[in-house]
Amino acid sequence: MLKEKKEFYKVCFDTMQVGILVCNEQKEIVLENNPLNSIFGYQNNELHGLSTTDILKDIALFNDFIQHPKNQKYKVPIESIGVKKNGQEIPIELTFGKLEYENQFYYKALISDISERKEKEKKITTLNNQLEEEVKNRNNELEKVVEQLKKSLNKEIELNHLKTKFIALASHEFKTPLSAILSSTELIVKYTELEKYHKRDTHVAKVKSMIHHLNGMLDDFLTLENIESGNIKPCYTPLNLNKLIKEITKFTKPSLKKGQVLIFENQIDEEIYQDPKLLKIILTNLLYNAIKYSDEESEIHVKISQNKNNIYFSVKDYGIGIPEAEQNLIFNRFFRAKNVLYYPGTGIGLNIVKGYVTSLKGTISFVSKENKGTSFKIQLPKITIQ
Ligand code: ADP
Repeated sequence: MLKEKKEFYKVCFDTMQVGILVCNEQKEIVLENNPLNSIFGYQNNELHGLSTTDILKDIALFNDFIQHPKNQKYKVPIESIGVKKNGQEIPIELTFGKLEYENQFYYKALISDISERKEKEKKITTLNNQLEEEVKNRNNELEKVVEQLKKSLNKEIELNHLKTKFIALASHEFKTPLSAILSSTELIVKYTELEKYHKRDTHVAKVKSMIHHLNGMLDDFLTLENIESGNIKPCYTPLNLNKLIKEITKFTKPSLKKGQVLIFENQIDEEIYQDPKLLKIILTNLLYNAIKYSDEESEIHVKISQNKNNIYFSVKDYGIGIPEAEQNLIFNRFFRAKNVLYYPGTGIGLNIVKGYVTSLKGTISFVSKENKGTSFKIQLPKITIQ
């Protein structure tokens, strides 16, 4: 009966789901079940008599348990590394226990091979890392989209702001010439007699000039649109600068105030390649400003010079100047300095000038001092056409 019971115990012992190891105080394995042998790659009973140091890599852990068997940390399963017969290391999980039999102490360990679990954990960690990476990438993409949206939104806000500004400016700037046209036409109707024809002619001329002025303003607004959409493509043709100066003078002379003189100095006799249309608009804009923002009886100097690679244009006046605190803003669209409150203007001329100069691959700069004057300088690269 006892023998039968012993065999029954052995069957139970060998069919456990975990490896069971019992060793004596010298760490010699005195009892082990079949699963323990197979976990470590031994034949049945082969582990018997070997040392626990043969199968546990971290023997310090086992030693510590022997010394402190009651330590709390040994009440829960511990992960460690086992060494198989062929030297291969495998992840294992251990629970420890101490027992006494016939006045001798023994130490037992229940050991499970957790390779599969570890492999799964590793896969999950890899997947998690991949997922995190994916989320990070998506977040980056999302941030970029948000950034772009913000930019478009800001642009939209700026555009709306500019539109409001434009409407305010246009209604103000259009009102004066329109009421001048209205009063002139009312007067023209009154001068019916032949002898008053010269008065009528004066008003017709006034109406013409006002319409010309309004047309110019509308052209400016349309130009802004082209500059904004990058539609300015320079058209380089041979150009005689003296001829250009003559045309500009003809254009601007009627705007000169009493006693104002234009002084031109051109150091370039030969023909150059440039876009005459753009250059004319650039120079007339600067010249109109010089005339507008300086007093009667003052001089305005326009100088054209060159060196090996560049052509320089400068327009200098002795007028009201630009307040230092606002100098960094004057190329902004619709910007007008505080000291020009009582001068007509829309604040788009310089913005156009800058757009044109940029499209000609040049630069524009200026020096200005309030109540002393302003000098604009434009540098354009020399164009050679093969
Ligand atoms: P505006 O129609 O107001 O003249 P611009 O774009 O031509 O517009 O110039 C922008 C602003 O720069 C002007 O309103 C003025 O404050 C300043 N400015 C430009 N040129 C001169 C100048 N020669 N002297 C003084 N201020 C100037």
